[in-house]
Amino acid sequence: MAYNDQIVDQVQSLNDIVEVISAYIPLKRAGRSFKANCPFHQEKTPSFIVNPEKQIFHCFGCGVGGDIFSFLMKYEQMNFPEALRRLAERVHVTLPEAKQSSPRERSQTERLYQIYAASAEFYHANLKHSELGKIARAYLAKRAFDAPETVNQFCIGFALTEWRTLYEHLSKKGFQEQELIRSGLIVRNAQGKTYDLFRNRIMFPILNRQGKVIAFGGRVLGDELPKYINSPESPIFRKRSELYSLYLAARAMAASEIRRVLIVEGYLDCIRLHTNGFPNTVATLGTSLTQEHVQILKRYADEAIVLFDGDKAGEQASLRGLDIFLEEGMSVKVLCLPKGFDPDDFVHAKGMEAMNHLIHEGQDVFDFKLQVLLQRYNKSDSLGLLKITSELLDTFVRIKSPVLVDRYLKRLAVTLGVEEGSLRSELNKLKNKQSSLHVRQAELKSKSSTPQTKKVEPAAEKLLLALMIHCPPYIRTFLELFPGYSFLGEKTREIFYSFCRMAQNEDDTKLSASKLLNRLKSEELKTFASELLMIEWTSNDDREQAFQDAIRTLKKQEHEIQLRTLRQQISKAEEAGDQESLLKYMKAYQELLGQVESR
Ligand SMILES: [Zn+2]
Repeated sequence: MAYNDQIVDQVQSLNDIVEVISAYIPLKRAGRSFKANCPFHQEKTPSFIVNPEKQIFHCFGCGVGGDIFSFLMKYEQMNFPEALRRLAERVHVTLPEAKQSSPRERSQTERLYQIYAASAEFYHANLKHSELGKIARAYLAKRAFDAPETVNQFCIGFALTEWRTLYEHLSKKGFQEQELIRSGLIVRNAQGKTYDLFRNRIMFPILNRQGKVIAFGGRVLGDELPKYINSPESPIFRKRSELYSLYLAARAMAASEIRRVLIVEGYLDCIRLHTNGFPNTVATLGTSLTQEHVQILKRYADEAIVLFDGDKAGEQASLRGLDIFLEEGMSVKVLCLPKGFDPDDFVHAKGMEAMNHLIHEGQDVFDFKLQVLLQRYNKSDSLGLLKITSELLDTFVRIKSPVLVDRYLKRLAVTLGVEEGSLRSELNKLKNKQSSLHVRQAELKSKSSTPQTKKVEPAAEKLLLALMIHCPPYIRTFLELFPGYSFLGEKTREIFYSFCRMAQNEDDTKLSASKLLNRLKSEELKTFASELLMIEWTSNDDREQAFQDAIRTLKKQEHEIQLRTLRQQISKAEEAGDQESLLKYMKAYQELLGQVESR
């Protein structure tokens, strides 16, 4: 680990887990703990528990858990140093410079962030410049995007018409040509000439979830093509996992009761919705939605509303894209705007109320697909009918709720005028085909890798470990009773060793559950430990009783193992005809047996 334990402890102790987590999801007090619907799996009744005394969280539904760092790492998909940095910033602790495994790689990424930040500033200043930004401002004014709050909030900018203004600006700031080319914002042609990628375009910075500029979208001022270009993918920008304005939308959704996200295609559509009462809007970056997108959105919202332009819905709608929501178990509605409107025009012309009205009228994804397919194919000719049914059955296979599938099947049968029974048997055939495919894939997988037997952690050891963490003096009692005991469970063993090391260096009063979690190397161990830490005893007597029981169970287990070993040694000695050893083992065996029985 790059940071020493002291600084990690300090950052942890200054951040309260309840405060940190409630910035993301609403927590309700329940006795000494707090409860919430788990953000890591779908549920109706809360099984996600945050314990302020121990500064840990654990979900009894899906089993995730850990400390404040684990939460941030899971929720924000950060690595440990990132989570540490974020929490340190939150409480104004300055971290010593971290020693990374690859300082070169680290500094390259850091330089990319710096280049993008400096470029965003430069473009933004151009737009605001009285002379240079005139035409761009006129364009934005024409489309009513010129309010200073809007321009500032989205840091809208302008790339000048000349070939090398950004290049020169960044060079003056000390960036090397090589790193500028690596950023993708500067291009080198076959003749070796370098120039700016974006020229004469309105610039929209794309931020990651930490609020850092990682890419740009650039729009032409007129009707030339391509209308939009994006900066290329880079070590800091992957299209398939980024969405425009998610940084702002995530905060809006966390602060709102309604966990709903609106999805549009264009930057300007997105900005218009944000500034007209829909800050929960994101835009795709000229790609169709990916599984990663939906997985990320699911953390912030329960329902997605996909907006399509009125006249283009049929061709524009990627019907397959909508299936991703169903596969991921996220509820989705489709909203088709009236003919001639895109989201921007509509909100601009009709206002927030009209938009809200449309959202409530949003079409179920099934109805939408059916409608599009009925426009595309003729249901009264047999080929058309086949196309429609096979497309929709393909969707049904992905829907996890059987109730929903049932309802859709009935409606489809009525609309197409076919027997519900025959649709159902088609669906079953399709399901069987797919599941046999899955089985085959699983078989292939298991053949290619060595079979992993699932390691069971013995219950008595788990309980004992939980007791020792709750009440550190038990460690000494335990070590006196079982010197050199080796835990059978892999995880219990590792946690026990970490805890012992800690106990050697600190006095009992300073040992805390959260400190222990910090010392654990893997998230898997942290999750396992957080589960142990959630065990509670009603009184000290109760706890003492549990400890004595656990000790007894462990002693019994140890005896059984010793007996088994002796039995093996006896039969070996018999086979070898080694009378001396045989006698020795027999005696030991009888003694051990006597001990067990006399207890
Ligand atoms: Zn969960």
